[in-house]
Amino acid sequence: MKLNMVKKCVSTIMTVLLLFGAVGVTSTAKAQYQHKSEAVSENTLRPIIIQAPMPIEGESLAKRLKNVKEEKSGSFIFWIGTLDEYPVIVTKTGKGMENTAAATAVAIERYNPIAIINQGTSGGHDANLNVFDIVLGKRTTNIGSMKTPDLTEGQGSAPFKWIPMDLLASEGSAGEDPSAEKIRYFEGDQKLLAAANAVKNKYTKGKVVEGTIGSADIWNNEVDRIKWFHEKYGTSVEEMEGASAAQIAGAYHVPFLGIRILSNNKVNQGKYNPNTAAANQEYVFEVVKQYISMIK
Ligand code: SAH
Repeated sequence: MKLNMVKKCVSTIMTVLLLFGAVGVTSTAKAQYQHKSEAVSENTLRPIIIQAPMPIEGESLAKRLKNVKEEKSGSFIFWIGTLDEYPVIVTKTGKGMENTAAATAVAIERYNPIAIINQGTSGGHDANLNVFDIVLGKRTTNIGSMKTPDLTEGQGSAPFKWIPMDLLASEGSAGEDPSAEKIRYFEGDQKLLAAANAVKNKYTKGKVVEGTIGSADIWNNEVDRIKWFHEKYGTSVEEMEGASAAQIAGAYHVPFLGIRILSNNKVNQGKYNPNTAAANQEYVFEVVKQYISMIK
């Protein structure tokens, strides 16, 4: 009798264990299945992402896509469509470095893009560039990441003595580390640059040049300050997003290019013209078409 009860107990325990085991197997299989389906979606075409900080900088591009559907995440909008039967996503990131970094990370995690173009308006740092000229970001750099010299109370502030600070130089203290006292440049992707150069003759409202895009959450109106950046950093233009997108794209090894039209230029009295935003989108549209023809 006793022995029978023990046997019964053991068999109950075994059943329970088996059941749990089965559940375990089921969830593993599911995990494997999920993994597999992710692998399948990797075989589908990876979209090109075009970022626009302000609505006027993205709307005309979004209108040119076919089969557009809209998705949102936080304050970011993604217009998902096709161009020449290739998936393209226009993103409204919002202005500034924080918005752009977050919108870039969300886009990469959600859509696994093949390339990212950050585009929009900018202010000239180079007297040879006029409103409606376009700069292709051969390099993009953060012009807000800086370290000040040591000055004691009463010694004031010396902005022309500020030193660039490369936050990616090491994982240690950027304030103490002398190797962090340098400018960090993010290189524009060669293939995207080639596509942009290949269609530059299609742009007739100004010239298209390769240059350096400087980004920070600041609008510089002091001409001496602008000249200082132009000399120290080699900046062609300034805006508020490119370097942040370039940094995050770099972190995920996604090819990146900044394309910026001058909407204003303090250095040669170029007055702000909002129509430049649409002109840049016309050109970026041609660049993306060209890029698609190169990767297809
Ligand atoms: N806060 C101000 C400025 C924002 S507009 C306002 O609302 O009036 C800034 C946008 O225009 C940014 O997306 C930036 O990338 C771009 N931009 C154009 N010219 C610029 C310049 N001279 N300096 C900085 N950003 C500029």
